[in-house]
Amino acid sequence: MKLTLLGTGSPGCYPNVYQSAAAVVAGETSIIIDCGGGATQRLAMACAAGQPALDLKNLNTLILTHLHPDHSAGLADFIISTWIKGRKEPLVIYGPAGTEEMVEHLIQAYKIGIAEHWETESPTPHPLKYEVIEYTDGEVFSNSDISVTAHRVSHGRMETYALKFVTADKSLFWSSDTQPHPAVIEHGAGVDVMVHEVYSERGLHLPGIFHTPPNYFRRMHTSTLELGDIANQTRPGRLILQHQMHLGPVSDDELVQEIADIYDGEIVFGRDLDVFEI
Ligand SMILES: [Zn+2]
Ligand SMILES: [Zn+2]
Repeated sequence: MKLTLLGTGSPGCYPNVYQSAAAVVAGETSIIIDCGGGATQRLAMACAAGQPALDLKNLNTLILTHLHPDHSAGLADFIISTWIKGRKEPLVIYGPAGTEEMVEHLIQAYKIGIAEHWETESPTPHPLKYEVIEYTDGEVFSNSDISVTAHRVSHGRMETYALKFVTADKSLFWSSDTQPHPAVIEHGAGVDVMVHEVYSERGLHLPGIFHTPPNYFRRMHTSTLELGDIANQTRPGRLILQHQMHLGPVSDDELVQEIADIYDGEIVFGRDLDVFEI
């Protein structure tokens, strides 16, 4: 199994960090997780850097963990660009309740451009094909290469799922956005890789830096201290941080150190276009 981080960002816009998205490749199967702004561009970069499995024309499986814009703002681009680049198979978009409505609105919003590509002489000889499958807890996707299960977590009132990817001999747990939740402990225990979101506990307490009420982060996300505790309970082979929220002048190393102070396993500060062999 190979994991490529496409975007490790959150709602804020940063010069070198795109919004949340990643790719998991196992055997002949490529699965995209989330589709924040810039995800399609990052896929083109990853493909150009030597990953033909992420060639846009071959991508037909996307799983949205939830419908926050920083995880879905690149969706119209992905649906249309994979088609224009030659995707022949229907794109299957898995997502929680509301995904179908979102996709239909996007297709409507771009109907003039889609029709122009399809109805005039253009390099798109196949109609735009897609399917939406709304999922809840349990199996989302399975074939001979890999199985993916969804586990409801707690992210304010937003219906959100962590994802667990399992191959014949490896496992990967993707937390998505969540406050500490028992499903992470239960299904993330002992995995080869856990990819988890995180905010800096220290950053949260820096005065006057960030104007969102601290309770917001407590309710929606997981702090460095909480993640250290989760890692101690689950002991993943490797802990990869993504969707990092510094919340103030906290360096990347300092954010990692906040976790390392209480957890002695391997911790990696994930960056856009990092590739991990699992
Ligand atoms: Zn997010
Ligand atoms: Zn979110």
